[in-house]
Amino acid sequence: MTVNLLEHDLESLAAFCERLGEKRFRAVQLFRWIHQRGCSRFEDMSDLAKSLREKLKGVAHVKAMDVISQHISADGTIKWLFDVGGGNAVETVFIPEDDRGTLCLSTQAGCAMGCRFCSTGHQGFSRNLTTGEIIAQLWFAEHFLRKHLKRDERVISNTVMMGMGEPLQNYSALIPALRMMLDDHGYGLSRRRVTVSTSGLVKKMDLLGVECPVALAVSLHAPNNALRDYLVPLNIKHPLEELMPACVNYLEHAPRDFITFEYCMLDAVNDSDAQAQELVQLVKKYRNSVSWCKFNLIPFNPFPASGLHRSKPERVQGFAKILSEAGITTTVRKTRGDDIDAACGQLAGDVVDRTRVTVRIARQRSSELNSSPLDVPSDAKI
Ligand code: SF4
Repeated sequence: MTVNLLEHDLESLAAFCERLGEKRFRAVQLFRWIHQRGCSRFEDMSDLAKSLREKLKGVAHVKAMDVISQHISADGTIKWLFDVGGGNAVETVFIPEDDRGTLCLSTQAGCAMGCRFCSTGHQGFSRNLTTGEIIAQLWFAEHFLRKHLKRDERVISNTVMMGMGEPLQNYSALIPALRMMLDDHGYGLSRRRVTVSTSGLVKKMDLLGVECPVALAVSLHAPNNALRDYLVPLNIKHPLEELMPACVNYLEHAPRDFITFEYCMLDAVNDSDAQAQELVQLVKKYRNSVSWCKFNLIPFNPFPASGLHRSKPERVQGFAKILSEAGITTTVRKTRGDDIDAACGQLAGDVVDRTRVTVRIARQRSSELNSSPLDVPSDAKI
């Protein structure tokens, strides 16, 4: 059984090379071939000694998960479904904009957090992804896009861990993957452009700030414990009295001077004027100024099992106005990839349980046998 080198950040690749009797600089060369050039064939790594290339062939390989399907939205958003074995699949979404290319990555197959408005939460938890499975999503997407769009320079400028799973519940696999994203020999992304989203695992937030501070987004979704207990069940364990101070503490390490609060707008559940005012008070309670956070209001993407509905656009605007007038920077997220079920909270699509994942994989495989799922139109907007 050979080792997949996508599992190794640079430090661990150096240790691997040392065990093969090779110097550290060989690990740097190897790492650059893999992550900067997207090369998976040792025989093509021309500046590595032939003897090392031969050695590597016997003990290692470089491979992403199989792509089950690829869907391209009219707005240029691309969604891939990757097979992670055992009947499990994870989704990765590329969102092109004029000034950036953002990749939304999954960190777990399913999710144990059970947030009411999230279709992944309704799917249940299968397993943590490995470091290699997390970084493989970026490795595959970056080099696939460069090749198909005939671009030499970097296509993906931002990554967000907002796909399937609670990233901080898979902390030990996440950290090396983040380091590979940040590494100048890897993807060289700025800490400000790598965002971890959490539903509020406060101890892991503290640890992240110390060990690998990147931008932080917190799924808030409610202005008080009673409602948040219902929408984000993790709140029962870590209520707002723990979460909010953890957010403020994170600012000491954060690459940006604010935390982003995600707030999914749910009709007649959390979208009233009174709740907007309650949010303002909540923010003020933990710091004198309100500039320490920003709000991102997310239009809910309904799915049948949720029993929830999307707030009306005018309600979202009214809610945003109250926050903005209180001095809080507030944005309303544009929905992207609606037509391919790639919008926020839709990852896992129509999956309702693990059996259905298996069925869905089989269905998608057979439906795409006769198509060419890996063709990106040359006019895709990037
Ligand atoms: S919103 Fe995030 S943490 Fe909550 S269930 Fe969905 S994937 Fe898990």
